[in-house]
Amino acid sequence: MKLFKFGGASVKDAAGVKNVKSVLETVGYEDVLVVISAMGKTTNALEIVIKNYFEKSKELKSSIQDIKKYHIEILLDLYGDEKNPNFTSAYDAINNHFEDLEYFLKTNKSPNYNFVYDQIVSFGEVISTTIVSHYFNQEGLNNSWLDVRNYIKTDQTYRDANVDWEATQKNISKLGKKKTLYITQGFLGADENNFTTTLGREGSDYTAAIIAYCLGAENVTIWKDVPGVLNADPRYFENAILLNQISYREAIELAFYGASVIHPKTLQPLQKKEIPLFVKSFINPTLPGTKVSKGADLEPKTSCFIVKKNQILISLSSIDFSFIMEENISEIFALFHQYKIKVSLIQNTAISFSVCVEDKFNKFNELKAVLSKKFKVAYNENVSLYTIRHFDQVAAEMVEKNKKVLVKQISRETLQIVTE
Ligand code: ADP
Ligand code: ASP
Ligand code: MG
Repeated sequence: MKLFKFGGASVKDAAGVKNVKSVLETVGYEDVLVVISAMGKTTNALEIVIKNYFEKSKELKSSIQDIKKYHIEILLDLYGDEKNPNFTSAYDAINNHFEDLEYFLKTNKSPNYNFVYDQIVSFGEVISTTIVSHYFNQEGLNNSWLDVRNYIKTDQTYRDANVDWEATQKNISKLGKKKTLYITQGFLGADENNFTTTLGREGSDYTAAIIAYCLGAENVTIWKDVPGVLNADPRYFENAILLNQISYREAIELAFYGASVIHPKTLQPLQKKEIPLFVKSFINPTLPGTKVSKGADLEPKTSCFIVKKNQILISLSSIDFSFIMEENISEIFALFHQYKIKVSLIQNTAISFSVCVEDKFNKFNELKAVLSKKFKVAYNENVSLYTIRHFDQVAAEMVEKNKKVLVKQISRETLQIVTE
């Protein structure tokens, strides 16, 4: 079996859904499992619903209505008009999901933000796959819709769940060897009580890898709005060039430093079973894209540029001029872990310690209060972390030009700078 993953950008409107169908028809869809994300920016829109729910805002109803309207418009564009019986059956299915969402909001008693977040945000993927599956079936592209929550089991770390590999493997093995086109949701899992969990924002690439691993799939293709993995994010760098082949190791490094074209957790399960990953364009599906596979000889011959925006540079120094040593550092890291703050660069001197971090869960203020009890805390918010893999002088100068550099760090293959 092969795994395909289509992200939010590929199904952001009716033309996108039709294009996904055409990609499948072009490249073949026998024995394929397709993982699909929420349509367009639906996950962000659901985050607003969650905020409104917790703040008991008057906008709650209208924020749900906006999401419903967006999806119904896609249905109308797909089917032409409301009288089309195919429209009615897809509409009823979507309407049921919205009724479930409203029922949850009405009856929920849990004050646990992360738990509630996952129960709500998951509707994005459930709705998008329902629309795509209905449309494909009605268009003769017969498929089976799977609820991925019956397959991927996780712990109860809501919003950043860890996969229970044993249970997941057992469930996915039940899929058997039927040569069918399956359609399922990215990003979602379920805990042992069958409550929905999520794997972290942008986690649908990872879903494809989890399923591929458990099936021992032939390969995985993630279909993107770019021709493949480029040596830089084209949104921020001009003249980015396609990397035809890279090793798992290179891909993990690029993704870890912030090349958001591949979710960083995707590579590990694939590498373990040496399942190749293709990153291809959903606009030009016949082009080869990038192949990620085993091999040290696949390293790019060109510098690769990665930028992570919206980082925080934190500098801690001891209040009494004592050294910042192993004991303090391990305590500091335990706190980062506890507050779910991801560290992307570390630098220390005798009495000070700097880290560049990402505050995905808005915990920095809480952490700062705790750290301030023991250290002098200085910080710069909204900084950018630039990483150049396989850097040379020209590449380094290009990135540093016209920027105020706060931290610079050089290792054998990698140059990192934090800029204002
Ligand atoms: P999805 O639709 O699957 O969620 P994403 O939007 O997360 O896809 O990923 C595709 C985007 O990743 C591209 O539009 C591009 O701006 C960005 N990107 C960042 N780094 C790279 C890179 N090195 N190569 C290609 N694209 C990159
Ligand atoms: N829909 C989720 C998100 O936007 C998962 C994904 O797209 O990968 O984060
Ligand atoms: Mg995405």
